[in-house]
Amino acid sequence: MPTLNFPPRIPLARLPTPLQPLERLSAALGGRHRLWVKRDDLTDAAISGNKLRKLEFVTAAAREQGCDTLITCGGVQSNHCRATALVGARLGFKVHLILRGEAPAELDGNLLLDHLAGASVSHYGHRQYVAELPALFQHWCDHYAEQGQKALCVPTGASDGLGLWGYLAASRELAADMEAAQLESAHWVCATGSGGTQAGLTLGTALDDLPVDVWGFNVCDDEAWFLNKVAEDIADWQARFPQAMPVPAYQARVVDGYVGPGYGRAGRDVFETIGWLARLEGLVLDPVYTGKAFHGMLQEIGSGRFDDRRDIIFVHTGGIFGLFPQRDQFDFLAGHPA
Ligand SMILES: *Cc1c(COP(=O)(O)O)cnc(C)c1O
Repeated sequence: MPTLNFPPRIPLARLPTPLQPLERLSAALGGRHRLWVKRDDLTDAAISGNKLRKLEFVTAAAREQGCDTLITCGGVQSNHCRATALVGARLGFKVHLILRGEAPAELDGNLLLDHLAGASVSHYGHRQYVAELPALFQHWCDHYAEQGQKALCVPTGASDGLGLWGYLAASRELAADMEAAQLESAHWVCATGSGGTQAGLTLGTALDDLPVDVWGFNVCDDEAWFLNKVAEDIADWQARFPQAMPVPAYQARVVDGYVGPGYGRAGRDVFETIGWLARLEGLVLDPVYTGKAFHGMLQEIGSGRFDDRRDIIFVHTGGIFGLFPQRDQFDFLAGHPA
């Protein structure tokens, strides 16, 4: 593999995460595919999930730049905001969260953890958030500067040229996992929400010339948006780290069609898949990201998209705390026959 000079990194995640075979699922699908799961939901306990890999580089950059505050943004149940809040507490950063959506009557899931971790939280209505996000970042950045503090603004999902390093490193980790498991080639499947995980894996497989196709199942927006976002993140990486490596030819692959009713909202079929997989494999998905992507992957396996007999590795990006605020959607479990 070519030498890559990684920027400073604060080790936060418990790495490598396990690569596990899904034997009962593979059998249930008729044995045509071997399926695996890369357990990036196990990067830690409360600070679990894919955002932790990105935050290793983001927090190191914040320290290097002399910042004492992290400002970031996301939905009310953002996993990224929760991870940032807890990491900030652990490393001694003040954390301010700009959240899309009014404060709910009850603290639940990730939002409860944001507050537990002592983050400052500002809620904005959906329309204002979308229209004014850059101004809101500027407002809070100025606010902390006036108090003599220095803030680093972290974009949605920590998806940019800096956070991308997290999934460049993960791509190498997965390549080592495949070697240990004696897999010669594979498909890697992930949920894509702000594009950074997909961008890192896509660039990583291209840089290292791995016999792997990376597929992002989008949980919001559409294929064009993510193709553009992946290209933007990779271009930002190149601009910020020009000495790292020239960007090789790469192919981003987005599978659209499984967003359902919208970001953070899933159809009943997704909740049924979550229940089915939990019973079959003891593996828990969330309705916002991994459940949607996994459900989409199963449909695409059924319709033959992956029919080249390569193994499929689903990258489980975490999100378990987003399951509980949607408990009402599991009403079909009441009196479920064993
Ligand atoms: C943020 C998130 C994703 C999407 O990752 P991006 O890098 O933002 O595309 C997937 N799964 C979970 C659980 C997440 O929290």
